Amino acid sequence: MDELLEDVAHHRDLGYQAIRVQSGVPGLAKTYGVSQDGAAYEPADSALPSEHIWSTEKYLDFLPSMVARVREEFGPQLKLLHDVHHRLTPIEAGRLGRSLEPYALTWMEDPVPADLQEGFRLIRQHTTTPVAVGEVFNTVWDCYQLIQEQLIDYIRVSVVHAGGISHVRRIFDFAALHHVRSGSHGATDLSPVCMAAALHLGLSIPNFGLQEHMPHTEATEAVFPHAYRIADGTGHPGDAPGLGVDIDEELAARYAYSPAYLPVSRLEDGSVHSW
Ligand SMILES: [Mg+2]
Repeated sequence: MDELLEDVAHHRDLGYQAIRVQSGVPGLAKTYGVSQDGAAYEPADSALPSEHIWSTEKYLDFLPSMVARVREEFGPQLKLLHDVHHRLTPIEAGRLGRSLEPYALTWMEDPVPADLQEGFRLIRQHTTTPVAVGEVFNTVWDCYQLIQEQLIDYIRVSVVHAGGISHVRRIFDFAALHHVRSGSHGATDLSPVCMAAALHLGLSIPNFGLQEHMPHTEATEAVFPHAYRIADGTGHPGDAPGLGVDIDEELAARYAYSPAYLPVSRLEDGSVHSW
């Protein structure tokens, strides 16, 4: 908990306006969303998938106290987010969302696997904690029902996964009609090209919510020289023409491809669970 509070304070001091709070879960050796050995968080951690053991019971037992502690430490103004990483059923997510209501999360991300859109009705019936979904979506039809029925509050599609700038613009426009704001995915496996596109698009829409930012490695930054800037909690696409991103192919050729896979998640009895 002390490390978590230090890390939140560090990112607040860097100027981030919204911070996703993730931590280890007592009784589980490792979990998603937590960096190892002080390095930047990178979920794809090995050439063949590693295995993480998961317990929904231990997670649900622990999480509200973790978020409560962070809220108590940082007060009501700092926007707090949390990523559930598709680990719950709708009724479990409803319970979690309700238990987190006193701490006023800005969003609860991916509470359940997002394929079953009508499942989100059950979450909505039980909690007012805002819901953010969409980093795995590919078209407007993957989120049509979620948006139309106002079952979510933030749509997290990324330009590179959901059909490009034109298609994501249509998703965001459709979302705007239904009180849903943008919250584009910004993980490190999305390149600076995607980040530049997301910043341009985000600047152009009235229902911009948040832009996720996980810093790229220095090598990635060097291979993709770019005009955009992310500092003091804001992103600016820069003034260069187009997306304002180049690709240094000579430099890129110096880095051999090394495969990296996301882990496999198993319950304590060995059965496979959603990663
Ligand atoms: Mg996520």
